[in-house]
Amino acid sequence: MTENLIKTYEVIKGADILFPSNSKGEPIGKCPRCGSGVKENKKAFCCESKACSFALWKENMFFTKKKKKLTKTIAIELLEKGKAKLNGCYSERTGKIYDAIVILDDTGDKYVNFKMEFPTKKGGNK
Ligand SMILES: [Zn+2]
Repeated sequence: MTENLIKTYEVIKGADILFPSNSKGEPIGKCPRCGSGVKENKKAFCCESKACSFALWKENMFFTKKKKKLTKTIAIELLEKGKAKLNGCYSERTGKIYDAIVILDDTGDKYVNFKMEFPTKKGGNK
């Protein structure tokens, strides 16, 4: 007499892989102050650490004066190299458009400062 063995499949409990809920907000770089991840939110690129107040605001005076926005690309470069190219800046004084390099000048203050550096001029500048 042969009996068919019916295999029963049990639902494996607790085997669900938990996906991180914040997969959307992957760190874009490392915080220069504490080394934690820096994540993007609506208004800024902020350090994950609550004790750390490091933040790069998307709309800050430094950039808006030049009719520029602190984009994700710029933020990534700033965090990685400490500086980023900023092309097509508007000069309030002369009304002209120029290219510059923006440098992250973090003094550890509440707000992060920026500095400007100009690419070496090619001859023929009047
Ligand atoms: Zn930090």
